[in-house]
This record gives sequence, structure tokens and C-alpha cells, in this order.
Amino acid sequence: MASPRGVVEDSLWLDNARVVPSGTSYASVDDSATGEEIAKVRSATTEDVDRAFDSAARAQKRWADVSPADRVAVVAKAADLLEGMAEDLATTIQAEVGTVASQVHGMQVGLGLSAIRLTAGAALATVTERERIGASEVVQEPAGVVGAITPWNYPLFQVALKVAPAIAAGCGVVLKPAEVAPLTTFLVAEAFAEAGLPAGVLNVVCGSGSGVGSAIAGHARADFVSFTGSVATGRQVARSAAQWGTRTSLELGGKSAAIVLDDDMVRAAVRHTIASCFANAGQTCAALSRLIVPRHLLEEAEDEVSEVMAQVVVGDPAAATSTVGPLASQAQRNAVVEHLRVAGETAGVRTVASKDISHLGPGWYAPPTVVVAEAPGAPIVQEEVFGPVLAIQPADDEEHAIELAEGTRFGLIARVWTDDDVRFERVARRLRVGGVIQSDAPTAWDAPFGGVKHSGYGRERGGYGVEEYLVPKSLQRGRFTE
Ligand code: NAD
Repeated sequence: MASPRGVVEDSLWLDNARVVPSGTSYASVDDSATGEEIAKVRSATTEDVDRAFDSAARAQKRWADVSPADRVAVVAKAADLLEGMAEDLATTIQAEVGTVASQVHGMQVGLGLSAIRLTAGAALATVTERERIGASEVVQEPAGVVGAITPWNYPLFQVALKVAPAIAAGCGVVLKPAEVAPLTTFLVAEAFAEAGLPAGVLNVVCGSGSGVGSAIAGHARADFVSFTGSVATGRQVARSAAQWGTRTSLELGGKSAAIVLDDDMVRAAVRHTIASCFANAGQTCAALSRLIVPRHLLEEAEDEVSEVMAQVVVGDPAAATSTVGPLASQAQRNAVVEHLRVAGETAGVRTVASKDISHLGPGWYAPPTVVVAEAPGAPIVQEEVFGPVLAIQPADDEEHAIELAEGTRFGLIARVWTDDDVRFERVARRLRVGGVIQSDAPTAWDAPFGGVKHSGYGRERGGYGVEEYLVPKSLQRGRFTE
């Protein structure tokens, strides 16, 4: 099935069918590489959101009665069907987000598919878990109807991380994708319908955050609101949901650090951290956007930065040679350029390397840049750029490295570069983040992921991700006896 392009009138996915929403405004979707409009998506209204919640509430009751094994089978089947649409998904995501060809299949489509499969793999055990506590047996029940709000940076992965566990758990869903990248979501909805998901269990409503998003977050019929996006919006979502006492999960921003402890690892850490920071043009919540190195190795680190930056190719996302593409939107490009302007004027911040992008035509390009920031309070250290900009911070010793790593309001992930397992755990346990990875170990995609501090709360991925969509119920057996 071809991805929707042009004017998308029937942008409301309701009861397993595409319906024209009642809104009269349209949101533009741009090709990140050219800035040209590729689609205009008709926006929904709060009345459409009500219809979606009605539909989800009706369908959820019946879906909860379907056996967990059958529910999980639908999730697994949807992953297979989406795999068959991999080319379409990659083309759509590349246009919406600007992810380069060498990353779009693995980091976008592959991660999204694997999130659905890992959820399917973990869900049955989590959903059917029964725990005996004295005279009680604790069983797991679906949370009910879920409002899900997603960002644009990984349009399949972010949607998969909410929709797959919600469906496996027996919930109904009203989903709002980001205006910048909504087209992938139609493919997901179609795949779940084709996989046998009953009408109404998954509904998709497109539109603005302030209109449709806040109507979902503050909906009286939402039993749980799962949000991924910026810190500021997350707070608004939590406030909207609080009027009904609705539980929320907030997956918010980050300013994650890689800390080099072993001297002989500094070059490998520079290479790895730049790759992490520049992947998807820096638009990754868990990007390592800070690198903390021993001060006496700063020169060696900068030398390695120059070598790595010489290999960075900024350009057309469709070109096989490009390693960094454009930002997803004009607003995001402007935000990154503004961060760089401020960094250039901040005392204690010095640019080590910046790629020339003057040869690139239209499209939302920003120059991949590495700075050394001696000032821990500098905005480039404190604020999430969400672009290809790395800040290196020199540390005097291990204690100072921990202090620097801990010196922002965020707490998503960290990497600690050392071969010493005891040292790794000692430092990792002192970092207030949701997860810590040793050196260049691969990410375990079924381990729980989420933040602490201003990076939010709640966990996604694997069995922990499914738990968010369940509520424990205690069944107490027996009779009163004297
Ligand atoms: P955003 O907060 O601007 O938007 C996210 C979603 O919220 C969009 O769908 C938007 O339309 C909607 N929204 C906006 N205002 C709303 C409101 N008042 N009520 C309800 N919904 C509203 O974020 P973004 O620019 O799309 O994404 C980038 C941000 O997301 C970054 O800060 C990034 O770190 C974060 N992010 C976090 C994770 C994570 O797992 N922790 C993953 C990806 C992105």
C-alpha cells in the first residue's frame, strides 16, 4: 500500500476505517531534504477526539475478553505485515524526518519492528502473571482506554512503543502522532487492522498539540495517558490529565553524558559518542550529547574529534554517502542554529569542529558541531539541542566527572567508559538516570527505558513497557472462620 501523499482528507482512523475528520484546517508535512510540502493532513477537532474515545471504550471491553495469547498473536502478525511494508515505511520516514539512507532501515524501520516483536515476546508472561500474597492472588488487568501522544523523531518506533504493549495488554487506544510526521501512523493502523485487530481498539486522530493533543490528555474517558515529547509539553499533559486524576507516563528530553574513566578508551569514546550524538541528525532523546573526558586527555580527544569529523558527510538523506541529513522541520533547524549562535557567544565555550553546509541547497540542514565547554552552566551543556551538536566537558577526576554528569536537570541515560566492572557499577549507581551502559556495549532493546528528574517517569520497552498498560487486581479467596 502506498504511503499517503498530497492532500490527506480522510486522516481520522476510526473503527478500522479512514474517515474525514470534522476539522477544516490542515497541517503541512514537509520533505526535510527540500523543504517542499509533501502532504497536507486534515486536522481533527475535539468532537472527533470524543468519537475516538467512544469507539475505543466500546471496543476495549470486548478486546479485554480476548485471550492474552490471541491478543499477542495480533501484535506479532502486525509486525510481520509491517515488515512487508518496510520500503514504504523507510521512504515515508525519510521524507518526513530526513533520516539518511544508511540509518533509516535499521534505526527507524528496524527498531520499530523490533519494538513490536520484543513486546510480543515479553507480553504473554507479563499479562498472565499471577502472584499469591497470603490469601490474595494478584492478577493483571488492562488499564482501560489509553491516550497516546508521540513525537516526530522516530515515527514508527515511538508509536510502536505505545501501541504494541497497549494492545497486548487488552487496552483501547486513541493515538495522536506529531504533526511533523503523521504519515507513518496510517501504515501502522492499516497493518494492525489487517492483522485482525477488531475495529475501535486502535484509533488515530491527527492535529495540533494544543487542540487535539490537549483534548486527549485531558479527556474524561482516558484511563491512562502515555506521552513522549518535550519537558514543557509533558508538564502540560500531566496538568491536563490531573483534572481527572488520570495516571500518566512521561518520556521526556535528555542531555545524556558519556563519561571516560579509562585513559586508553578516549579515542573509542569520541568515535562512539559522535556517532550516537549525530545519529538521526541528533534528534534522539537518548543521544549522548555530552562527553566528559579526563582533562589531561582533552588534546587527544580533540585530535580524534578532528579525524572523525573529517569523515562526517552532511547531505541529501537519499544519498548512500550521507552520514548526517537535515533536521526534520524548519522549526527544529532554526532551534539548532539558535543554540549554536548562543554557544558561540558563551564564555567558556569553544568550537572544536563544525561542518560546512554552505554548499547544501534548500532543506532543513544545520552544521554538525563539536564544542568544548569549560563552563558547566553554559546553555549548550544545560539545554537539549535535539540536533547534531556535541559538548565535551573536561573533568579533573572521577568525582568531578560524576558531578558534571549530574549537573543538568535531565536524567535519561549515560555511558561509562571503563573495563573495570567494579568501577563501572560504582559510578553507574551514583548517576541519577534511567539506565547506564558500559563503554560501547550494545543497547538491550527489551530492557526498561525511561527517565528520572526532568526526563520524566514511566518505563517503555519489553515486559516493563507492558506493565504500564496493566493494573494489578487482588482476588481474595476464602470465607470468614472464627
Ligand atoms: P513536543 O513536546 O513538541 O510534541 C510531542 C507531541 O505532543 C506531539 O504530538 C505534539 O503535537 C503534542 N503536543 C504538543 N502540545 C501539546 C499539549 N499541550 N497537549 C498535548 N499534546 C501536545 O515534542 P517534539 O518536538 O515532537 O519531540 C521532541 C522532544 O521529544 C524532545 O524533547 C525529545 O527529547 C523528546 N523525546 C523523548 C523521548 C523519550 O523516550 N524520552 C523519545 C523521543 C523524543
